[in-house]
Amino acid sequence: TDPTGREFESNPTVCPFCGVGCQIEYAERGGATGVEGAVNARGEICPKGAAAFDVVDHEDRLTEPLVRHGGRFVTAPWAEALDRVVDGIGGVVDRHGPDAVQFFASSNCTNEENYVLQKLARVLGTNNVDNCARLCHSSTVAAMSERFGAGAMTNTLDDLRETDCLFVNGANPAEQHPVAFRSYLLPAIRDGATLVHVDPRANDTTEAADVHLPLRPGTDIEVANAIAAVLVEEGLVDEAFLAERTTGFDRLRDRLAAVDVAANAEAAGVDPEAIREAARAYGEADRAAIVTGMGTSQHRCGTDNVHALLNLALLTGNVGRPGTGVNPLRGQNNVQGASDVGGLPSVLPGYEPVTDAAARERVADEWGVEPPSEPGLTEVEATHRFGDEVRAAVVFGENPAVTEPNATAVASAFEDLDFCVVIDLFETATATHADVVLPGSAWAEKAGTVTNTDRRVMRMRPNADLPGNARRDLDILTDLSRRLTDRPEAFDYDGPEAVFDELTRVASIYEGMSYEGIGDGSQRWPFSASDGTGTDVLHAETFATGERTAPLAVVDPVPPADELDAGELTLTTGRVLQHFNSGALSRRSDRLMAMRGEDTLQINPTDAVERGIDDGDRVTVSNERGSVEATAAVTPAVREGVAFCTFHYADPLANALTGDALDPEAKIPEFKHSGVAVEPTADD
Ligand code: SF4
Repeated sequence: TDPTGREFESNPTVCPFCGVGCQIEYAERGGATGVEGAVNARGEICPKGAAAFDVVDHEDRLTEPLVRHGGRFVTAPWAEALDRVVDGIGGVVDRHGPDAVQFFASSNCTNEENYVLQKLARVLGTNNVDNCARLCHSSTVAAMSERFGAGAMTNTLDDLRETDCLFVNGANPAEQHPVAFRSYLLPAIRDGATLVHVDPRANDTTEAADVHLPLRPGTDIEVANAIAAVLVEEGLVDEAFLAERTTGFDRLRDRLAAVDVAANAEAAGVDPEAIREAARAYGEADRAAIVTGMGTSQHRCGTDNVHALLNLALLTGNVGRPGTGVNPLRGQNNVQGASDVGGLPSVLPGYEPVTDAAARERVADEWGVEPPSEPGLTEVEATHRFGDEVRAAVVFGENPAVTEPNATAVASAFEDLDFCVVIDLFETATATHADVVLPGSAWAEKAGTVTNTDRRVMRMRPNADLPGNARRDLDILTDLSRRLTDRPEAFDYDGPEAVFDELTRVASIYEGMSYEGIGDGSQRWPFSASDGTGTDVLHAETFATGERTAPLAVVDPVPPADELDAGELTLTTGRVLQHFNSGALSRRSDRLMAMRGEDTLQINPTDAVERGIDDGDRVTVSNERGSVEATAAVTPAVREGVAFCTFHYADPLANALTGDALDPEAKIPEFKHSGVAVEPTADD
């Protein structure tokens, strides 16, 4: 029983926050106890995980369906609310066709729930389904899939302890994946591994770094190409690996010969000697691992940024061995799984392209309906077309009115829809634009599986009863699917295990997995049904493309979309230890708010003096997209010309300022580089 009197069971389940995937259990003292990972039980937990139960019983929880009547929400019985959804979505499908509906899957919900949501979209006849993996690592997945054949971590978290050099590019694992940092990266560093940190902002990860490259936002390619040039120039490449496992070295070498390390360093605003030091640390290590985050991926050239990093791994033979690889750290507890199970517009469950006729037929054998063959719209593309070719939205556990770039415009675009239904725990900013809001289940109330950042599938188990008339998400989705499609029998499941069993038949990377096999531990994909084991280190003998070799790529720098006007700073956004994504969960925890209740705008002392800003002053941050106020934190941690704030808060709403220029391939927005004016807020 917790301090509020609500009863919890104590079943091991998975933390609802980051992609490390710590197992947690409820503790009588009113919090959570941690068991880090399913395999290595160390009892580790971070502040967010410890506060995870705080939000389950929050007074803001929705306990009844809400239906809009005369511009206001009123509570309604489930039957009436679901009828409204069937009329709203079904009406749009009848009038405009299924491609007029956009489905937002959820990186924070289970594999089973996301599988059913994408199946609903495809049985209705559209591939318009996406999840917020689009906003974090779609560019990483695009580049790694193209070159290596798989878009996930090549190695495992545990395996990072074996490395001799950690090259952390655009990630801050000390704050964003804290248990992984403490359990795997720090022990490796204490055992002598070198840490190179490429980040415009000095943060907790930088404190452990041997080399810090505080690059200008948007110059990742300049830095990676300069490092590649040094690797070639100083003979730090792996000739045998290049000959046996790569193609295209001659062309890349010729291009790198033209790279002027000093010029690239100047463009990036870093010391050329530090670039050489980083190259030597990476190139001379026996085992070197790249760890990459959203600082790399969230650019309009995010895919190219990752291509440039992949070159480093291939040039030095740091692929396919323990302690090496290219390892994207995923943000949400099931962002990997939501993509694995097909919550993406261009691929079916298991990453089979929707354009592949044989893959569609395999799915049709299970579903009784063949999915459409044209890729659907990504999240950001869809919001740009609200009120035009997109007329309705099903938003499941996401909050795009806060999390998408140019968020004020996105929020207003929701008003252009004919119909919108939101399934969530709270009346979020997006829900305020909905016609119907359905009260779903919190992480502690649901059963199913999630897949963490290193491809481990783990079980979630219910620990608490649903409040009021809230329902389990899986029940809501299957109920809606039976009502909305003409294949109700395709959504008759006897609980989440039956959904998972179907998933293992449809998605080859999950083939052979089972709830029984996962038990209290995990199963890692790609899974071998015959061996009953997963694969820790990918690409050891062949790449996941099926080829023995992977291509090296020539990557040229791409300037950011926002050209800075005179006097503007580059706003770059990120995360902090105590909060999570749009803050819909973490800002409802008193404990986390006590630790960090307010966001600040970090600004370099030189920029602050030029603008007459003192530490603690209120400042106005603005550009053509919006204007927000924040409290200034004057600190040398951010480089001159750069300002930093998080995207966890509704006020200041960082995404009111971010731009919606997209990477042409992955369609990821350029969150990490926005031109802004910063000035003291005028007194009233
Ligand atoms: Fe949860 Fe991530 Fe913290 Fe682990 S490290 S307790 S998964 S937020």
